[in-house]
Amino acid sequence: MNLDELVEGVPKTELAYLRDMKTPKSQSKVLKVIPEKRTHAYLILDRTIFHPKGGGQPSDKGTIYSSDCTLNLKKAIYHRGVVVHWTKIATGTPNTGAVTCELDWPFRYLIMRRHTAAHLLDHCLSRAIEKRVQTTDSWLEEPCYVGYAGKPPSSSVLSQVEAQANHMISSGGDVRIDFLTGEASKMLLLKAPNFERLPDLEEVRTVTIEGCAPIPCGGTHVGNINEISALKVVRAEETPDQNFRLHFQVE
Ligand SMILES: [Zn+2]
Repeated sequence: MNLDELVEGVPKTELAYLRDMKTPKSQSKVLKVIPEKRTHAYLILDRTIFHPKGGGQPSDKGTIYSSDCTLNLKKAIYHRGVVVHWTKIATGTPNTGAVTCELDWPFRYLIMRRHTAAHLLDHCLSRAIEKRVQTTDSWLEEPCYVGYAGKPPSSSVLSQVEAQANHMISSGGDVRIDFLTGEASKMLLLKAPNFERLPDLEEVRTVTIEGCAPIPCGGTHVGNINEISALKVVRAEETPDQNFRLHFQVE
């Protein structure tokens, strides 16, 4: 399917998950349906609670339903400001109009906990090695890791990172979301990983864990780091490009 053609002429999707990450069920309006064979369909909605794949975060899963049909969301894809919902038809025939969207909440909540834990890892690693870290990539499904530039740290540094993260988790700390103008964000984000790589944007969404530097991020996070429960640093894996991945789990 050609995504350019799919999103042609449709308004940008309101990304409801940017402001409210805790609502597992919400109403939307289907603006466009493109069936594929008889079993699948692409849907474009006016607003969505489904986070698309991106920024190391896998696509949300869930269901989209009305009195006429039930669809299982296979993948949400972000393309030119529009979220395209690739669905498998469970019952009925999809049409334009009102629908209910429901997240696979256990999966989403696990990703929220892992995503917040990944930011905490950045903070604790930066403290342990006493310099700003540069992240290369990340993935929050399996295997779950954050990639960093440079050589893997020693096992004593890794233990220090894990202990510091768990100390912060058990003490708790609010995770705040702000929307800033591009100019204001530049001053605030000087300490963020990869600050140099940030694009010029009119509005920047920042995520601030209490006691940590603000980070620009469009992902979904828990409201307090105590929801992570515990973080385990599994191992540091040296990658062929001379960097390393820190594999971790939340418990
Ligand atoms: Zn984030």
